[in-house]
Amino acid sequence: MAGLVSRRLFRRASAVIPGGVNSPVRAFRAVGGTPVFMRSGRGAWLQDVDGKRYLDFCLSWGPLILGHARREVVAAAGRALRRGSTFGAATEAEVALAEAIRQAVPSMELVRLTSSGTEAAMSAVRLARAFTGRDMVVKFSGCYHGHVDSLLVAAGSGATTLGVPDSAGVPEAWARTTVTVPYNDLQAAAAALRRWRGRVAAVIVEPVAANMGVVLPRPGFLEGLRELTARHGVLLVFDEVITGFRVCYGGYQRICGVKPDLTVLGKIVGGGLPLAAYGGRKDVMRLVAPLGPVYQAGTLSGNPVAVAAGLETLRLLKALKPYRRLEERTRSLAEDIRRCARACGAPVTVNQAASMMTVFFTEHPVTDYASAKLADAGRYAAFFQALLESGIYFPPAQWEAAFLSAAHGERDLDRAARAIGRVLTAGS
Ligand SMILES: *Cc1c(COP(=O)(O)O)cnc(C)c1O
Repeated sequence: MAGLVSRRLFRRASAVIPGGVNSPVRAFRAVGGTPVFMRSGRGAWLQDVDGKRYLDFCLSWGPLILGHARREVVAAAGRALRRGSTFGAATEAEVALAEAIRQAVPSMELVRLTSSGTEAAMSAVRLARAFTGRDMVVKFSGCYHGHVDSLLVAAGSGATTLGVPDSAGVPEAWARTTVTVPYNDLQAAAAALRRWRGRVAAVIVEPVAANMGVVLPRPGFLEGLRELTARHGVLLVFDEVITGFRVCYGGYQRICGVKPDLTVLGKIVGGGLPLAAYGGRKDVMRLVAPLGPVYQAGTLSGNPVAVAAGLETLRLLKALKPYRRLEERTRSLAEDIRRCARACGAPVTVNQAASMMTVFFTEHPVTDYASAKLADAGRYAAFFQALLESGIYFPPAQWEAAFLSAAHGERDLDRAARAIGRVLTAGS
C-alpha cells in the first residue's frame, strides 16, 4: 500500500491533474489502491516519497536499460544542459545521434528526431500516406503506437472491417481509415490487404508486441508481412519504440532479418529523456519537409540535453554489450517463475523475449490480443500489490511488459525470484 506522503500527494494531484497523473496507467486503476509517488532512482532501485525502496521491473516502461541515473548518462546530460538547454537550431550532437542510429539500424537511411514515440509514429503514418497517395492503415489488435487519432482504433466486427474509435474524441471518419487485424494472423492481414486493395498506405506492427504484455511473433509472421506489403505496394512500418536497442544493439529487424520501409524508435534511444525518431528508405524520407511536402516539425525536436543522454546511452550499450547477459538473466527469472507456478499450481503463462517479459495469469498460451485478454487482471492486481509490499515494483497493469536493466545484478534477481515465489505460493 502507498505510504502517507504518497496518499497526501495523490489527493493534491487529483485536485489539479486529471486523475492525479500525467499518463493514465500511472494511476494504478488496473491494480487498485493509491499510486506510489517516486522520489529518486538509482541503478535497479527506486525510492518513493515515503522512503520505501523497490527493485524496479517497470523501468519507466522501458527506456532505462542501463538502470536509473546511470553516472555517465547523467554527466553527459548535465554537460549539455550547462551549454544551453535548447537553441532551436541545428547542433553537432544531433548529427552524431542520427549517424549512430543509422549505423545500428541500417534500414533507417534518413532519420528524423522527435520528442515522443507518439509523434514519431504519427509522422511515419503521415509520411506513408503521402508516399503512397493512399489513406488507410492496417494495424494489429493489442499493438500500441502512441495516442495518435487514427491508431487509437479497435477492431470492427470482422477481421477485415473498418475500425471503431478506441477513445472518445476520435472521429469515426478517422477510425474508418484503420483496419485492425489479430496479431500473428497473416491470413487476416492478407485478407485485409485484398479487401482494401489499392487503398492501404501502411501496415504498422510491433515486431515483438509488448503493449498487450509481451507477445512473440510466430515464425514467418514478420517475413509474411514483408512479402504481402511488397506485393501490394504498401509500406511496412516497424514500431520499435520498445524493441529498439532493447533486444540487441539495433532493432528486432536485425534479429529477424526483415527490413521494414520505415522504423519508429523511442524509449531507450532517448536515454530516459523525451526523444524518439522515425526513419527509413531514402526515397520515402525525402518527402519530409524541408526536402518534400510532408510537414513535420518540433520546437524541442533533437533537444541537446535529450540527444546527449541518448548518444551516451548508445555509446555505453555498444561498449558494454549487455544484451546476452540481460537475456540470460531474464530467461532464468522467467523459468524460476514458471517452475514456482507449476509447483504451487498457479495458472501462469510467462512470455519472455530478450530482457522483457510478462507474467500472464492464464494457463493458456498467449499469442495475440484475444488470448492475452484471457488473463485474470484481478489475480495480477493481487500479485502486483503483494510484490509492491515486499519491495518489488512490477508494471501496475496485467497487459504490460516487465523489463530488466544492466543494473539488475544476480543478487537482485534472486531476491525478486524468492519474493515472486512467496507471492505465488501464498496466492494459490
Ligand atoms: C511507448 C510506445 C509508443 C509511444 O511512445 P511515447 O513516447 O509514449 O509517445 C509507441 N509505440 C510503442 C510500441 C510504444 O511502446
